[in-house]
Amino acid sequence: TDTLHIVGGGMAGSEAAWQAANMGVQVVIHEMRPQVGTFAHQTGLLGEMVCSNSFRSDDSEQNAVGLLHWEMRAANGLIMATADKHRLPAGGALAVDRDPFAQTVTDTLMEHPNISVEYGEITELPQSGSWIFATGPLTSSTLGQAIAAETGAEALAFFDAIAPIVYYDSIDMERAWMQSRYDKGETEEERTAYLNCPMDKAQYDAFIDALLAADKTEFHEGETAGYFDGCLPIEVMAERGRETLRHGPMKPVGLTNPHQPDVKAHAVVQLRRDNKLGTLYNIVGFQTKMKYGAQTEVFKMIPGLENASFARLGGIHRNTFLNSPTLLDGQMRLRSRPNVRFAGQITGVEGYVESAAMGLLAGRMAAAELLGGSLDTPPATTAMGALITHISGGADAKTFQPMNVNFGLFPPVDGLKSGRRGRKDRYKAYTDRAKTDWQAWLAPQAAIA
Ligand code: FAD
Repeated sequence: TDTLHIVGGGMAGSEAAWQAANMGVQVVIHEMRPQVGTFAHQTGLLGEMVCSNSFRSDDSEQNAVGLLHWEMRAANGLIMATADKHRLPAGGALAVDRDPFAQTVTDTLMEHPNISVEYGEITELPQSGSWIFATGPLTSSTLGQAIAAETGAEALAFFDAIAPIVYYDSIDMERAWMQSRYDKGETEEERTAYLNCPMDKAQYDAFIDALLAADKTEFHEGETAGYFDGCLPIEVMAERGRETLRHGPMKPVGLTNPHQPDVKAHAVVQLRRDNKLGTLYNIVGFQTKMKYGAQTEVFKMIPGLENASFARLGGIHRNTFLNSPTLLDGQMRLRSRPNVRFAGQITGVEGYVESAAMGLLAGRMAAAELLGGSLDTPPATTAMGALITHISGGADAKTFQPMNVNFGLFPPVDGLKSGRRGRKDRYKAYTDRAKTDWQAWLAPQAAIA
């Protein structure tokens, strides 16, 4: 059999390699790190998580991303198995200890008899051979230009921001306290996955003023400042209204300050444990494009963080993705050059889990083709199928934006109540149907996978 070449060993490329190799195909992963870095990656490891350490909700009955977890586990997914292995307590969310996670992904792939890794940047779309490009939102610029030259349509881009990480031992626990909102979580460890810093009204007002006044990274000429709505920088939220943060990431509900049990906080900044050791905490929802100097100044206004030292500051980056509805077919192939597939965030899905999911599909589809067959696109009633259907033609090409998996992408189940009140039953019906249909899609592949 011919070799499958996979460019990019991130979430999608790692999963694609694993799936194809398990089907008996020889795989070469081409990864540019550590020789060529990106703005956000810190290591040379495969499967590195660049920002938050959360795979979001693990609820496979009421949540679409939890359903995607379920589907990937059912398909022997490497990313999910490794996340489960290095799981950190975080209530209903699946949080991951990022360093051992990436190390295990790397070791598992390196040890696979059908996989080899070649380090170096790929700068062109090859004319022949079977290729999957899974180069992510931070695709190197030379390759980005080659893709734009091929697709004719300009590769689109938007701007995304990351949140800072603080060292635990620099947090003043006389002011801050550990508690998860509404005391969610069963074990002590889960209940202490979050750390809280309270603000009174005067502190909040001063903080908003400082955010609005702070020095920010400016956009270069010609860059459009479009943001993904789920990842707005805090200062952009503050610009939308002085109360926006208090109703968003700084909402003071479901928390009681043990240092001042009778005082209701006006706002609360939450930090989430970022590693198993509990030495690092990220500030939840505090992605920012403030300049580094301004960040340390403004964040030290948060009660409890007066002496904070930062393991990483926030930042802003360009996010490259294709106009997939016009460019890709239902097999994730470039219509104009079918020996090239795309997978992961560059296809216009958003998030670690969604990216890995598209890697899983692309890997299986490419392997099936190399083995002389083909795989049907999974039905749109599954989370996998809903996503791939969306990116390969379901979405409006004119307004195409990166998409998280959500129940809005699923065809409705007949005979159920609409609106808020029927929601629980509706989601359960979606997820039940998805599980059945996903198992049916997987079953004939069991012999090869
Ligand atoms: P990646 O995981 O980025 O992998 C792409 C790989 O391709 C990288 O290893 C890169 O080095 C390599 N590569 C690039 N160009 C080349 C080339 N020319 N030749 C060879 N190799 C190349 N998602 C979340 O779920 N939660 C978050 O909080 C979050 N925050 C983010 C913050 C930032 C700053 C960024 C950039 C992204 C964030 N995302 C977040 C999105 C997340 O990074 C992606 O969803 C996920 O990592 C995408 O997986 P991928 O495999 O498509 O790309």
